[in-house]
Amino acid sequence: MKLFGSSGIRGITNKEVTVDLALKVGLALGGTKKSAVIGRDPRIAGEMIEHALISGMVSAGCDVMRIGLVTTPTLAHAARNFDCGVMVTASHNPSEYVGIKLWNPDGMAFDSTQQEEIEEAIALARNLNHVEWNRIGSITTGNNAVREHLEMILHNVKQVKVMVDMKVKPASLRVVLDCGCGAGGTITPYLLREMGCDVITLNAQPDGYFPARNPEPNDANLGLLKRAVKEFDADLGIAQDGDADRMMAVDENGVFVTGDEMLAIFAGYECKAGGTLVVPVDTSMTVDDALPDSSVIRTRVGDVYVAEEIKRTGADFGGEPSGSWIFPRISYCPDGIYAAARLIGIVQDTGLSELRKRLPQYPTKRGTVVCDNEKKGHVMNVVRSELETFGTITDIDGVRVEMDEGWLLVRPSGTEPKIRITAEARTCVDELYYVGEEIVKEALV
Ligand code: MG
Repeated sequence: MKLFGSSGIRGITNKEVTVDLALKVGLALGGTKKSAVIGRDPRIAGEMIEHALISGMVSAGCDVMRIGLVTTPTLAHAARNFDCGVMVTASHNPSEYVGIKLWNPDGMAFDSTQQEEIEEAIALARNLNHVEWNRIGSITTGNNAVREHLEMILHNVKQVKVMVDMKVKPASLRVVLDCGCGAGGTITPYLLREMGCDVITLNAQPDGYFPARNPEPNDANLGLLKRAVKEFDADLGIAQDGDADRMMAVDENGVFVTGDEMLAIFAGYECKAGGTLVVPVDTSMTVDDALPDSSVIRTRVGDVYVAEEIKRTGADFGGEPSGSWIFPRISYCPDGIYAAARLIGIVQDTGLSELRKRLPQYPTKRGTVVCDNEKKGHVMNVVRSELETFGTITDIDGVRVEMDEGWLLVRPSGTEPKIRITAEARTCVDELYYVGEEIVKEALV
């Protein structure tokens, strides 16, 4: 039984993710861990799932500390003092979704072996033990997690400034911050103000119905932020997803900065000469061309695979164009709050539009085709045999074909009933993209 996807357990509330399941996950986890910290994003089902998890963990003898409504990076930071961290979140998915993501004390999400242990315990109804009445775990409440996370970021941002400038000056930028009604509103506005920024907030009140916008911080969902940056004459705009592990930006002209551009900008500051950068297989060749002195390692798509590879290789930095930026100096958990603070430090010296202008640009096109999960295997077999005739195939994740004029990647989504298509070309990207789209659509007929 496969419960965990590339982003933990995630699904529709009361259909795929239920209190029955959460109770079993709690029992399985509580049987192997002595202590845990638990938090949740503002999802409507968050508290319901949290209670079931806590009941399971405590019943198995594990002590649990609740830190309430927090961001995923806040929870991952708090996990350093416990045997594990538990986050109830469905990240950037729409409001009907809920999920459970498990964390190690060093900020790494549970790896596949750890996840399989829990899946096996639940599938075989084994090791789901209730302890004696006088051995049940305690439930406590912690109130310092947000402040400790915020202080850690302030300390690190100052350290980076000292290394770069040999001086620390307060940020003086005007920033429009769109938390999308996600958990980011519990920490990011306060942090940016403490850094000295003039902060204008949009949607900073957490609300699990996500009434303002879809929680995914992509170009299509950030119309209000783009207009507000221009309207308020701000230096930049920042947007986060539902649990604020992801973060994206808008330049001073109200133009959305793409994920590949963000990756190249951060990497330009974070990677030492001769250093290493880790990115997923769908990342633009802009990143390779912008960092000729660094080696670029490509992984499967999913921030957990990027984090694992950073840890394994000791890389300087890594990230995903979807908005997950991993700074191993502070944590292996993508941190959309630290990333916002780091970007402000960078933009303080050079405007975002100028930073974008310096990057090599190739046209990229990304899209999806709806595909039932059970048809994905058949579609990918067809895609593989068709694309083999076009160029060199890499199948680290989906099928990527390299050609002289660019590359095309076709891969099944790990969390949704979709096939994702990415094309990048030196000239005719639309043609290349439609080649991929046609192959997928015909395989579905
Ligand atoms: Mg997220």
